[in-house]
Amino acid sequence: MDDTTRALFDAALRVQEHAHAPYSNYHVGCSVLTSSGQIYVGANIENAAYPQGLCAEATALAVMASHGERQAQVVLTVCDSEGLATSCGGCRQKIREFATSETIIHACSRNGLWATYTMDGLLPDSFGPEHLSTA
Ligand code: ZN
Repeated sequence: MDDTTRALFDAALRVQEHAHAPYSNYHVGCSVLTSSGQIYVGANIENAAYPQGLCAEATALAVMASHGERQAQVVLTVCDSEGLATSCGGCRQKIREFATSETIIHACSRNGLWATYTMDGLLPDSFGPEHLSTA
């Protein structure tokens, strides 16, 4: 794991501790490295009204965008699974909003890196902001 990935992994591990997951007991942390070099983090936040819960990717991206950032270069998730677990379909689309085709997405367990994808690899032939462009 290179230094950048290690920094993202450590940040995601730290924020995973703040997950609010009393219903699933499935804790996820997410870190996002932006084109400006900043790292933003988020954890999954469940709700007693289940569909109102947020995945860690959604909270991290919301924090990133709320700080005025729009370009995710690397996204990393850490979850409690023993084996590989990747972002859900909804989160893949949420990442896509702020990604390029080359944005890197790392899927990790608490023990380390499981798999690395590009945005195009994780969500091929996807719909994105350019499809709504009138330019
Ligand atoms: Zn998700």
